[in-house]
Amino acid sequence: MLRCEGATLDYGSYRALDGVSVHVEAGELVVMLGANGAGKSSLFLAISGLRRLKAGAIRLGGRDLAGAKPSAIVEAGLVHCPEGRKLFPGMSVEKNLRLGAYVHRRDPARSEEILDEVFGMFPILREKRHDPAGSLSGGQQQMVAIGRALMGRPKVLLLDEPSLGLAPLVVKQVLEAVKAINAAGTTVLLAEQNAFAALQIADRAYVLENGRIVMEGEPATLLRDEGIRRAYIGA
Ligand code: ATP
Repeated sequence: MLRCEGATLDYGSYRALDGVSVHVEAGELVVMLGANGAGKSSLFLAISGLRRLKAGAIRLGGRDLAGAKPSAIVEAGLVHCPEGRKLFPGMSVEKNLRLGAYVHRRDPARSEEILDEVFGMFPILREKRHDPAGSLSGGQQQMVAIGRALMGRPKVLLLDEPSLGLAPLVVKQVLEAVKAINAAGTTVLLAEQNAFAALQIADRAYVLENGRIVMEGEPATLLRDEGIRRAYIGA
């Protein structure tokens, strides 16, 4: 479904991604582990067309995304839910959500249907639909960010650190929602620092260090690895 081959990205003389090859098959939930600055966000920005690769290729369903505009990548079925949520805090929850339905702008009935599904998944957002997004709790704001991404009805959802800054119980709720989204048929690539919790819901995982993939495997394999446990799980 999604394939990066040798993805290389520079910021000036700094190499943020150095030949990253990863793939996500249809229906999978794949986790990208990595410390701050490992390159997770850079990889996601490159996949969604917001940063240009210096070398390498990215394919979505066999289509080469080289040079594709971010809007065309969304239309092709890939939506990026960015780190830090990037909501419009003064706008209502509902208006924030509707921004994600831009791809269905010629089919308003479709947008209403999907909005109803998003409210079904996050009932608290229906209750707070007219409240400014910035007045919600951190976890609820993350639900708005995920909901806005779902409004585009993606085939592939890139989720960049959805649990950042949230309390442990809320992290669990957000990751359960991610699992439910995947179980309902959306392919997910999830960047997370909360390694233990993320590995509980993943089908497969990669570890990114200094712009390079240093390990790939099933969650059970990574959880048994002494180096991974020490670096990412603290046990
Ligand atoms: P975090 O969780 O902190 O966002 P990350 O794994 O997502 O970490 P990136 O944000 O991709 O990492 O950053 C990778 C490296 O590239 C870091 O060293 C970062 O300082 C650097 N970097 C990121 N964006 C830029 C930029 N616009 N200009 C220069 N350097 C950048």
